[in-house]
Amino acid sequence: MQEYNAPIEDILFVINNLNSDTNSISDDYSDPDLIKQIFEEAGKFSSNVLAPLNTVGDKEGISLENGLVRMPPGFTDAYNQYIEGGWASVAGSKEYGGQKMPWNIVGGLNEIWHAANISFSLNMLLTQGAIEVIEAYGTKEQKNKYLPKMISGEWSGTMNLTEPQAGSDLALLKSKAILKDGSYKLYGNKIYITHGDQDMSKNIIHLVLARLPDAPEGSKGISLFISPKNLISKDGSLLEKNDIRVVSIEHKLGTLASPTCVLAYGDNTGADAELIGQEHGGLKAMFTMMNNARLNVGIQGVSIAERAYQQALNFSLSRLQGNSIDGSSTGTVAIIDHPDVQRMLMDMKSKIEAMRALSLFTANELELTKNASSDLGKQKAQENLDLLTPIVKSWCTDQGVFIASTGIQVHGGMGFIEETGAAQHYRDARILPIYEGTNGIQALDLLRRKLTMDNGNIFKRFLNEMRKDANKCTSVQGEQIPEIGNKVINAVNILDDTANELLSMWKNNKRHAAFGATPFIDMCGNIFGGWIMAKSALKASHLLINDNKNKFLNEKINTASFYTNTVLESSLSLKNVVINAHKNVDSILLNNFRN
Ligand SMILES: Cc1cc2nc3c(=O)[nH]c(=O)nc-3n(C[C@H](O)[C@H](O)[C@H](O)COP(=O)(O)OP(=O)(O)OC[C@H]3O[C@@H](n4cnc5c(N)ncnc54)[C@H](O)[C@@H]3O)c2cc1C
Repeated sequence: MQEYNAPIEDILFVINNLNSDTNSISDDYSDPDLIKQIFEEAGKFSSNVLAPLNTVGDKEGISLENGLVRMPPGFTDAYNQYIEGGWASVAGSKEYGGQKMPWNIVGGLNEIWHAANISFSLNMLLTQGAIEVIEAYGTKEQKNKYLPKMISGEWSGTMNLTEPQAGSDLALLKSKAILKDGSYKLYGNKIYITHGDQDMSKNIIHLVLARLPDAPEGSKGISLFISPKNLISKDGSLLEKNDIRVVSIEHKLGTLASPTCVLAYGDNTGADAELIGQEHGGLKAMFTMMNNARLNVGIQGVSIAERAYQQALNFSLSRLQGNSIDGSSTGTVAIIDHPDVQRMLMDMKSKIEAMRALSLFTANELELTKNASSDLGKQKAQENLDLLTPIVKSWCTDQGVFIASTGIQVHGGMGFIEETGAAQHYRDARILPIYEGTNGIQALDLLRRKLTMDNGNIFKRFLNEMRKDANKCTSVQGEQIPEIGNKVINAVNILDDTANELLSMWKNNKRHAAFGATPFIDMCGNIFGGWIMAKSALKASHLLINDNKNKFLNEKINTASFYTNTVLESSLSLKNVVINAHKNVDSILLNNFRN
């Protein structure tokens, strides 16, 4: 059985030490002992209940019987335990029965659930997003009708955007909503709907994008609707099935226990639906959910990477192969004694810690958009969140795939054989750079909308804050932390130059700038990761003053040192790719693919 132990110490280190504003923590969650208890309980549930089902789900998969999806054995029971444990309600608002935990705590919990069992936890990810949309755009009546049962987990939620002809480009969406006798009816086909059907929750609340008959063309003419799997009476009890049919479930590369459904709305009389938000205002409402979902998908990258790392580390301790390269021990050694295996494991570990810190820092910015102590603080948090979200989504998911691949490499041939489970992590990770906006789209979002915010000044402000933290490292005693700080300052300066050049390229030649978008977002991820590792090392050095033997804190500084000497250094050469490569490459691309 693959084991999973939630990395609670590191999650708590990030939550307790790396926030940009500590004055804004909700009083309910300001007690570190309470937060620790929450994570310890989550750790137990994930190790004992969710993680063992990860392999079961991968092997058994799901089935479609008489138009209904059946989850793998054990999933419904785990779902009931998840609800009884109160885990479904952690993010929801108190008014409707939720616990309203701050977003960085929710993010840390999400990391644990997805690491333990991503197929199971996707249900919760989509439900959390649907709850946010209803909280933000629903009428009082809609909130009362849907939120208590969705927040408790009795009902779950889905997000229905994609259609066969409309993926990245939602302007091409065709599903229709028609007003008949005072209520809306939906008609159309949606594909790839995650947990579009399952037998764990009692009802499923679909959020569906569709066009009204008089809608303008393109993305301005899209409205958002709520359409439940089973119709709901005035007293909240469930009535007959709505006119929504599960046409099929997709056969996929990974996340085999997550039902990815093709749904047909309105085969017969039309699927009953309610408009949520303004007519033609659907995309704006859906983006509330998608931005948070993007952050959570970035966190999924951390989850799978952590799971792959734990597995690779355990394997490397028991696999005996080869001799010590410097003769420091005799006879056959465990592969963890080889420098190249150590390099792979440290590469995994240091990136994971950087990804975790960056994604939970971003989750805290999300919290500050609502709860910062001043309006200015809220605005700044929103700008930081806007900037960081595509970086977290893209960098953490690309690295999630890379780290899962390194996990296989550590296993050698056994990694390629399904029985170790290393291959499952790689297969499961592969969807992350694709859904919730492909990473190519994230790179363009960073270039077109985020780098250009306030003519580049928001990006510059963030880089200046990174420099300030790195500068603090340079005045710490000893060599290790100042070296980390100097490397980060150098990297931030190079990133600053690269961003300036890219911005002017964007003004002069959009095609050339677009060519640099993906290497630029990679560079940002690696360098922002370096900054947050420097911030972590600095904090660890402060904490060590009163606790100088603390193993975790000493390891944190060493891990930051490894990261800045390897990952950070190798990312600097991306500058040339971003700003120079197009000069030679663009004509090759044009000639190869356009003629
Ligand atoms: C397992 C799974 C679960 C999913 N869950 C859901 C769900 O719950 N709800 C939902 O609505 N959807 C869901 N999706 C859909 C998912 O969000 C889309 O697959 C994704 O947004 C990409 O759309 P597409 O597949 O049509 O690819 P396309 O849009 O056809 O893109 C193909 C390639 O072209 C690139 N590309 C496209 N447009 C541009 C452009 N303008 N500039 C540069 N490059 C571009 C893309 O980056 C990509 O590399 C899911 C998909 C999968 C596979």
